[in-house]
Amino acid sequence: MKRRELLKAMATLPLLPLLMHSGAASARDAAGFMTAKLHSRVRPGHPGWPLAAQWKQLERDVGGRLLKLESPFAHCGASPSDGECAEMLKHLDNPFALGDNPALTQTSGWADAWTSHPSAYAVAAETTADMVAAVNFARRHHLRLVVKGGGHSYQGTSDAPDSLLIWPRHMNQVTLHDAFVAQGCAGRDAPQPAVTIEAGAMWSDAYDAVTTKGGRYVQGGGCTTVGVAGLVQSGGFGSFSKQWGTAASNLLQAEIVTADGEVRVANACTHPDLFWGIKGGGGGSLGTITRVTLRTFELPAVFGAVFGSIKASSDEAFRALIGKAMAFYRSALFNPHWGEQMSFRGDNTLNLSMVFQGLTQAQAEQVWAPFLDWVRGRGEYRFAKPVQTLAMPARHFWDAAFFRAHAPQLVVPDDRAGAPAHHTLWAGDQEQVGWFIHSYQSTWLPATLLQPGQQSRLVDALFAASRQWGFSLHFNKGLAGGADDAVERARDTATQPRMLDAFALAICASSGDPAFPGMPNARPELARARREAATIGKAMEALRAVAPGAGCYVSESDYFLRDWQQEFWGSHYAKLAAVKRRYDPDGLFFVRHGVGSESWSEDGFTRLHGS
Ligand SMILES: Cc1cc2nc3c(=O)[nH]c(=O)nc-3n(C[C@H](O)[C@H](O)[C@H](O)COP(=O)(O)OP(=O)(O)OC[C@H]3O[C@@H](n4cnc5c(N)ncnc54)[C@H](O)[C@@H]3O)c2cc1C
Repeated sequence: MKRRELLKAMATLPLLPLLMHSGAASARDAAGFMTAKLHSRVRPGHPGWPLAAQWKQLERDVGGRLLKLESPFAHCGASPSDGECAEMLKHLDNPFALGDNPALTQTSGWADAWTSHPSAYAVAAETTADMVAAVNFARRHHLRLVVKGGGHSYQGTSDAPDSLLIWPRHMNQVTLHDAFVAQGCAGRDAPQPAVTIEAGAMWSDAYDAVTTKGGRYVQGGGCTTVGVAGLVQSGGFGSFSKQWGTAASNLLQAEIVTADGEVRVANACTHPDLFWGIKGGGGGSLGTITRVTLRTFELPAVFGAVFGSIKASSDEAFRALIGKAMAFYRSALFNPHWGEQMSFRGDNTLNLSMVFQGLTQAQAEQVWAPFLDWVRGRGEYRFAKPVQTLAMPARHFWDAAFFRAHAPQLVVPDDRAGAPAHHTLWAGDQEQVGWFIHSYQSTWLPATLLQPGQQSRLVDALFAASRQWGFSLHFNKGLAGGADDAVERARDTATQPRMLDAFALAICASSGDPAFPGMPNARPELARARREAATIGKAMEALRAVAPGAGCYVSESDYFLRDWQQEFWGSHYAKLAAVKRRYDPDGLFFVRHGVGSESWSEDGFTRLHGS
């Protein structure tokens, strides 16, 4: 080819991305760009991938906050003492450090499901305009777009190799309001106390501002490093959800950038359908949220906990213990005061890890006395760990300085130099940091199973499941028995409605050590993982047999579900799918097993034939 012809051919190159997808009818997007119904998304190195100059332009548009991503473990093989590799290995058990790295996720992978891989580029968004620029760029260039908040998705929904990542980690302002009225709702809604939290904030940031400093309560997640926007969209739960409901049910307003690049304020008065979808419709499917405003509540005087462990001397005694525990739960704990977990282990141990609110320590001890007396009065049981009741001023529940002084063993601080003093994690959550999931399944258990006539079926199922694999009942992750107003608010969300009638979410899981690709000594034990998955499958079969069609919590569930639409959203799915079609008809915001994802391949790169 002559030089002049070559130059002419090269001059057309920037147009290639636009010409690539010429098979379908074209239209103009909100910004005037020609678009076509998208059939596939582009990957680095493939025709259509944005040119260096186009990335440069995006970088300018986002004030320099465009990052080319690479795993911190990328060069470990060649040089394990390489600064970044060594530094990351040192902090592998620190969820704040994992979260501060846009190339990592809090879960390193899941056997035969997914493995953590960085996106190609990230926009480290600090403003709404940064998010708008990223959304428009991804849409125009047919990129796979992904959003990461706290990075806690077990299912890898904030992880997509070859994608553009929106990463608002440093957009984490928390602002308290005495009298908030959602935009457009003046005259309809009375002003109420609330908090506005930006998309990159974790619950530890919210609790520090709202409770420790502000003396009020906001319903968030149990784990302090979970992202606020991620949990709200999950319809997620905290320890005291039986009293205050789900995080989603307390959403008053969200600002969200939708697929067309528009910044929309969604609340009960403006875009109510989008607002409803954000409340439990699953993270990352409807747009990228810039900030949420949540209702706050008066803080009770006391929060407390009951810990301990009871071991039965025989299978028969363990079955009787399960029966007694369920009867006790129904008569004494099935109310808004109590949350968190009992777990049932194959070695015939019952672990207690419950929390309470609105009771004094003496009242809580009184509640438990009949059950503990029953245990003490029988030779077939012993306390593997003594049962302890602790209570504290509620205002200190998330107060890092208080825990450092009084109970340092219960929390793990972010130990990096310069880390914010309020960044601490419950010690019990540390085992999940970076973990590699072998299997994870859950099901809601309907409260009808607690009725006297049904209890023996429940107990048989719990005992049968425990013969296979240990599992936990998370009582705070089902709203039956909760406060009436909390249940009513949660009814008006996209979350699977069966959750309202469930007394608990049963979770059965197993995992191995962190195994990020490239990490030295990362050896996922796949054979073991598969064996455990099969056993967990049997345990869950026993539970599902008494809870057919009960559904499960979108963010704490099996990767391999088939009927995920029904499991996660039940009768709400059709409405949620309509919201998706309205605000993202081309499926820019793809999340595997998210609303509308049935039109795409598992990786979100190829539209399925006929969709
Ligand atoms: C250790 C651990 C503890 C947990 N504890 C609890 C608990 O106590 N209660 C509970 O209910 N759940 C809990 N979960 C589940 C967790 O709440 C959900 O997985 C939640 O979605 C995580 O949000 P994230 O922002 O941290 O995660 P991410 O993986 O960043 O995000 C989750 C999803 O939300 C999307 N998303 C995040 N931010 C935005 C945004 N700004 N705009 C649009 N989409 C966004 C992502 O794309 C992704 O699809 C826990 C998970 C882990 C790993």
